[in-house]
Amino acid sequence: MTLTEERPITPDALEILHRVFGYDTFRGQQSEIIQQVVAGGDALVLMPTGGGKSLCYQIPALIRPGTGVVISPLIALMQDQVDALSAVGVRAAFLNSTQDGAERLRVEAAFIAGELDLLYLAPERLKMEATSALFDRANIALFAIDEAHCVSQWGHDFRPDYLQLSMLHERWPSVPRIALTATATEQTHQEIVRRLDLGGSAQFVSSFDRPNIQYRIEPKNQPLQQLLTLIRSEHPGDAGIVYCLSRASVEKTAEFLVEQGMTALPYHAGLDASIRQRNQSRFLREDGVVMVATIAFGMGIDKPDVRFVAHLDLPKSVEGYYQETGRAGRDGLPSTAWLAYGLQDVVQQRRMIDQSEGDRAHRMRLTQHLDAMLALCETLQCRRTQLLAYFGETYRAGACGNCDTCLNPPEGWDGTVPAQKLLSTVVRLQRERNQKFGAQHIIDILLGKRNARIEQQGHDTLSTFAIGAELSEQEWRGVVRQLLAQGLLGVHSDGYGTLVLTDASAGVLDGSRRVHLRREIERPTRAAKKSAVAASLPGEAVPLFEKLREWRAGVAREQAVPAYIVFGDATLRGIALSKPSSLGELSEISGVGDKKLELYGEALLAVVAS
Ligand code: ADP
Ligand code: ZN
Repeated sequence: MTLTEERPITPDALEILHRVFGYDTFRGQQSEIIQQVVAGGDALVLMPTGGGKSLCYQIPALIRPGTGVVISPLIALMQDQVDALSAVGVRAAFLNSTQDGAERLRVEAAFIAGELDLLYLAPERLKMEATSALFDRANIALFAIDEAHCVSQWGHDFRPDYLQLSMLHERWPSVPRIALTATATEQTHQEIVRRLDLGGSAQFVSSFDRPNIQYRIEPKNQPLQQLLTLIRSEHPGDAGIVYCLSRASVEKTAEFLVEQGMTALPYHAGLDASIRQRNQSRFLREDGVVMVATIAFGMGIDKPDVRFVAHLDLPKSVEGYYQETGRAGRDGLPSTAWLAYGLQDVVQQRRMIDQSEGDRAHRMRLTQHLDAMLALCETLQCRRTQLLAYFGETYRAGACGNCDTCLNPPEGWDGTVPAQKLLSTVVRLQRERNQKFGAQHIIDILLGKRNARIEQQGHDTLSTFAIGAELSEQEWRGVVRQLLAQGLLGVHSDGYGTLVLTDASAGVLDGSRRVHLRREIERPTRAAKKSAVAASLPGEAVPLFEKLREWRAGVAREQAVPAYIVFGDATLRGIALSKPSSLGELSEISGVGDKKLELYGEALLAVVAS
């Protein structure tokens, strides 16, 4: 080799990771995945939220000649994704229905001219012949199929437009494809492979564990007060998402939090699109906003500093629950997933399944999903162990030490006798008198309450009247809920929450089956009235961390971008801990790449020095 010979520049992945993104090392399987795609192979990537999926296609797109085309269903977020890339000096753009014709033409011209590293595209555009024609004229580095689980009908986010993605492979067979998702049971995984024809691709399945998320599930008593306690005592000033089942409860909960002095915004499908867009954008851009939402909100929201996800109603499946709670703590810092769940949730969901449209097989599927969710709620085991088992994974340590059942182990007890008393009451009302009553009435009978309804019905003469004084009303509700969860008691499809026996009830009544229950306990909250990240810092670093957050809020406002696009909490935390005094020291901190060092380096040093 002579010195004059020009060697082709092949920037290597690690160099790009340092220079562009400001990170030291690859996480998990990122490096192997990037190698596979750079070499032109297909890949299927199952990695939990926050695992770092984006770099797996962004870096290959920067290395391979041409533009990386990213198919994503999340139109509302494309602008932010493009902003985040531009902020680190990557040439990115998007094509979707929110643009006017002139803007679209400009992006298409840049794409054809090879001036883009990444192009984001909504799946519905693939139907258009114009899109194929455009692809034929451009040089494509790779296809990234984000949120790949949307192709699965078994899963919970099915999008018919995703079914067409198999055509990418047929029409452009030499372009490598990388499909990515954060949600996949074995069934969903297999369906993605089949529908996208990825049988021959390399499959990268990461652990789905999210060690920084603390999972907690507690009995629902006064849900709004419980939520308030959670936020006030553990997450003051933090960004969070509160999920509710209905639009009405979204509105009510958001109003309640606002009355309590918080910045809380509603989000549900009944709101005007422009209001939804505005609320989402405030959630992304401002610090410390609580979004109260139905599950219509959140897919693809890659705000890294969501510190808590609270569920005020029972999710319909473990997959949904894991996906929703996974929106907390993408940056790896301590976060909380909190769920309040009660008797009414079980009654309501069983009823919704009974009344749902669709065939028997569909209802069976919904029931299986619900039963798995209920088993998680009522478990005496480590929540994380059980969650991961649901996704086919064995938790290596057996118990995690960072979920409620590990931190505060629940007691099991033999509930056979109370269960028999309760079921006998249901039998007497149902069989002898053909009368149907809900949980409250049955508990009143067991407790021997002489209220008007009981006297009127003559239920104070039942042989089970007042035989249940050994438990409190609250404990009885726990018994009913757990029997429902275990399928030992059912809900009639009359729509009134009438309790009925199931096939499995007989074994309890004749004594051939024991009933194991979990004792209801009050859970202590994590101490400290500090935000979760500040709480994880040594005391002397907190003032600087808060100052850096203020500085960041100012910059974000000026540039009209979300705060995390300027710097993530993890980076500010790193600065607060190491107090750099030179640009060199600053560049060592994770998340500070060349472009950001140049833009903000001096300003940051000034904040640290003050
Ligand atoms: P996902 O799409 O898998 O949910 P992201 O790609 O959004 O995750 O990454 C989550 C966070 O982790 C982002 O803030 C990202 O910048 C950061 N991150 C990704 N890879 C690395 C890495 N190798 N080192 C440090 N931070 C990383
Ligand atoms: Zn645990």
